[in-house]
Amino acid sequence: MVCARLRRSGLGAVKASLDDRIARAAELAVAYPAARDLLTFYRELALLQKPIAEELRSRETTDILALLPYFPVLLKLVQRAGPPVLAEFGAKALQSPDTQTQLLLAFQEDPDRNVLASSDEGRFYARVLLQPWAEYLASREPADQTTTEPVCPFCGARPVVGVLRGEGDGAKRWLLCSMCATEWQFRRVVCPNCGEEDKDRIPVYTASEFDHVRVDACDRCKTYIKSVDLTRDGHAVPVVDELATVALNIWAENQGYLKLEPNLLGL
Ligand SMILES: [Zn+2]
Ligand SMILES: [Zn+2]
Repeated sequence: MVCARLRRSGLGAVKASLDDRIARAAELAVAYPAARDLLTFYRELALLQKPIAEELRSRETTDILALLPYFPVLLKLVQRAGPPVLAEFGAKALQSPDTQTQLLLAFQEDPDRNVLASSDEGRFYARVLLQPWAEYLASREPADQTTTEPVCPFCGARPVVGVLRGEGDGAKRWLLCSMCATEWQFRRVVCPNCGEEDKDRIPVYTASEFDHVRVDACDRCKTYIKSVDLTRDGHAVPVVDELATVALNIWAENQGYLKLEPNLLGL
C-alpha cells in the first residue's frame, strides 16, 4: 500500500517488486517481439525468485544455504526453457548438492577464485538464487544512500542499469545494483567506470524505437551503461526494460563499447 502510494506520488526512488517485474516482462514480451524469448525466460526466472524471496522473509533467515533446495527446480527450468549452453552446464557441473553449495558459498568469499563461480554460466545460476537473498539482506539494513561511489553501497556489486527520475529543476540519476537491487544516487554527467567528467567524452545515444532507454557511453574507458528514463515512461521497470532493449547492447558493442555489467541473462 505504502509503496503504491509513493509510486503514484512520484517521490524519490521506489523499487519495483518482483510482481512488477513479472508483469512488465509479460507486457514487453508482446510489445517487443525481437526480445520475446529473452523476456519469457526472464519472467520464468523471476517467478522462481518470488517464492525464494517470500520464504526468506517469512523465516527471517539470512542463511545462504536456505537457497540450496531451489537448485533442482532452477536446473529443471533451464533444461526446459533456457539456452542450450546454460542447460548443458547445469547438467554437467551442477548436479551434486556439494557443487551447488560450493557455488553459493563462493559468492560470500571471492567468486573470482572459484572455477564454477567465475564462469559466465556459474554466475548465471548463482545470481538467479542470490538476487532475492541479497535483496532481502539489503531490505533489513538499507545502505547509506549518500555514497558517491559507482559501486553498490550495500553489497559492492556494479550497477546493471541507470534510472532517471524527474525531480526539481532536472532529472536525477540513480544506479541500480546488479545483485541486491539497491538504488543509489549518482551524478549524471560522470562515467561510472572511470570517472570521466568531460561532457564531450561521455556521449549519450538514443534510438527512435526506444524513446525511454538510452546508452550512456564513455570514450575514455570505452564502457557503457543503459539508463531508463522514468520521466518518459513512468510504467517502465528498469531491470526489465533494460533486458527488452537488447538491440541497444548490440549497437553499442558494435561501436566498440563494453557493457559495464552484464544483466542476469549475461547480456
Ligand atoms: Zn548491491
Ligand atoms: Zn569511462
